[in-house]
Amino acid sequence: MSLIELKVPDIGGHENVDVIAVEIKAGDTVNVDDTLVTLETDKATMDVPATAAGVVKEVKVAVGGKISEGGVIAVIEAAAGAPAAAPSEKTEQAAPVQAAAPAPQAAAFSGSSDAEYDVVVLGGGPGGYSAAFAAADAGLKTAIVEQYATLGGVCLNVGCIPSKALLHNAAVIDEVRHLAANGIKYPEPEIDIDQLRAYKEKVIGKLTGGLAGMAKARKVDIIRGRGEFVSANHIRVALTESSQYEQANETGEHQTIAFKNAVIAVGSRVVNLPFIPQDPRIVDSTGALELRQNGGRLPEKMLIIGGGIIGLEMGTVYSTLGTRLDVVEMMDGLMQGADRDLVKVWEKMNAHRFDNIMTNTKTVAVEAKSDGIYVSFEGEKAPQEPQRYDMVLVAAGRAPNGKLCGADKAGVAVSERGFIEVDKQQRTNVPHIYAIGDVVGQPMLAHKAVHEGHVAAENCAGHKAYFDARVIPGVAYTDPEVAWVGVTEEIAKRDNIKINKAVFPWAASGRAIANGRDEGFTKLIFDAETGRIIGGGMVGTHAGDMIGEICLAIEMGCDAEDIGKTIHPHPTLGESIGMAAEVALGVCTDLPPQRKR
Ligand code: FAD
Repeated sequence: MSLIELKVPDIGGHENVDVIAVEIKAGDTVNVDDTLVTLETDKATMDVPATAAGVVKEVKVAVGGKISEGGVIAVIEAAAGAPAAAPSEKTEQAAPVQAAAPAPQAAAFSGSSDAEYDVVVLGGGPGGYSAAFAAADAGLKTAIVEQYATLGGVCLNVGCIPSKALLHNAAVIDEVRHLAANGIKYPEPEIDIDQLRAYKEKVIGKLTGGLAGMAKARKVDIIRGRGEFVSANHIRVALTESSQYEQANETGEHQTIAFKNAVIAVGSRVVNLPFIPQDPRIVDSTGALELRQNGGRLPEKMLIIGGGIIGLEMGTVYSTLGTRLDVVEMMDGLMQGADRDLVKVWEKMNAHRFDNIMTNTKTVAVEAKSDGIYVSFEGEKAPQEPQRYDMVLVAAGRAPNGKLCGADKAGVAVSERGFIEVDKQQRTNVPHIYAIGDVVGQPMLAHKAVHEGHVAAENCAGHKAYFDARVIPGVAYTDPEVAWVGVTEEIAKRDNIKINKAVFPWAASGRAIANGRDEGFTKLIFDAETGRIIGGGMVGTHAGDMIGEICLAIEMGCDAEDIGKTIHPHPTLGESIGMAAEVALGVCTDLPPQRKR
């Protein structure tokens, strides 16, 4: 009998990732590529496929558990003809963590090139353009290869920026509605969706146009086309033309570019769930941003599949514009990653938007009928009957594009899932080829991509730069906003980190009360041994704008005294950070008397 351990492959170095679904049980027969489990980090879910076929003898994980790269998911008895694995104990000792994806042999290239650069950046998203601009600023001859019409990637074109343009309008509408309680009454707004869409496009255009101008000013060449490595020093570009993001028609022309250094910044794409049919009423985040109307109206009833940040932000927009929401999430709560006390405040304030919040529940079937999309669920909160929706938003995570750019031809190792492993200098296994942004792993966030891009560029210029950020903040730009950074209470509990926590309720903040929005709070988390701040969270209006101060405090190794004795302007919401530090010191005079620590 040959037993094989099926392990978590390269998931970008992430540790203790949530297991949100287990698709196998003892006795099941699995084939190669069958999904074993679904894992979730703060912004993406990923299915882990079987790398060998056989009969499941033991499942080592459970829903709600945690697992890291290299962790054993299940032990199977190999199907006849399958390669035998070493016995489990030996395998554990020899490889506690799965080694990097195997490095392929770079292809040889003997053709001529049309141009030569010090640095070629493949992909013009926030990571890519930041790397390219920094490389050019360092005096390097630089080009960006981007398949779509504009720079800015997902973030500027179909992600961070358009979603915030819509969220801003939704927030103003909601705020105006709240004013009625203060005696200021407006009639219900008349919403011209075409104009709203045009506003969003204008915002995108302003930013992407600005990037084009800045590229020109830096003499960064933009090569419009789909690039693929053909060797460790050449990229072949199939030139494209199009006027829209996410559309690229190949012109039939090609260019070959030689490079001394390359930066792979190809980003990620939406994860499509295999059982979901093609139908214009079923959209991903890009489709949701289009504010599609049916019969001149936005959907009356929408299902969001996936209770993460992207789905909830889009849900906020639609709900404010009049759509009723349901959300289905396989985990036991929405907005995973943030501490539950923060999320609870958001939940209370947003309960009115939802008819049904289905946690611990999964979508099992989706059928497109003429009168709507019918969806069946399984799990704790699953309705008995299929539910009818006018629109379904699939926001179940994003997958990296590492396998779609010929990286193997350059000798760059790409994991099964499409992630590219890098060291702290953003170098891949091929030392003059770097990788940054969503393609190198979680969290898939623009600010991480930008910082990694700067590190890669500095290294291309011969400096020694490292990505050694202590923390990367996460923000849900919902209403109220939820922001967190560093060690959360959940992480502290899981990792047995002794902490001291201090909370300042916004119910005691003059500014929050004056704004009529005092539901939030600010929480700081200090290492109990060193007294230094190691984490923090905020829920409330503009929390995302303020979390940066906590990030800085963590980077600077501040303790409560540093923060509490820093004079914050009054009356501001940001003041709540100083006051939370005073709470930690037991000296906050804006709250009832406290026990001194
Ligand atoms: P991308 O932005 O994905 O850019 C990669 C670029 O490479 C693309 O333009 C693509 O066309 C190009 N490309 C890929 N392959 C090739 C090839 N072979 N040849 C040529 N070009 C190629 N993050 C935040 O930090 N804050 C937010 O508020 C936020 N909101 C979001 C909202 C939504 C709806 C979505 C979908 C995402 C959001 N994100 C947010 C995530 C953020 O957009 C990504 O983390 C960020 O864009 C990643 O940047 P990147 O440079 O790695 O890649």
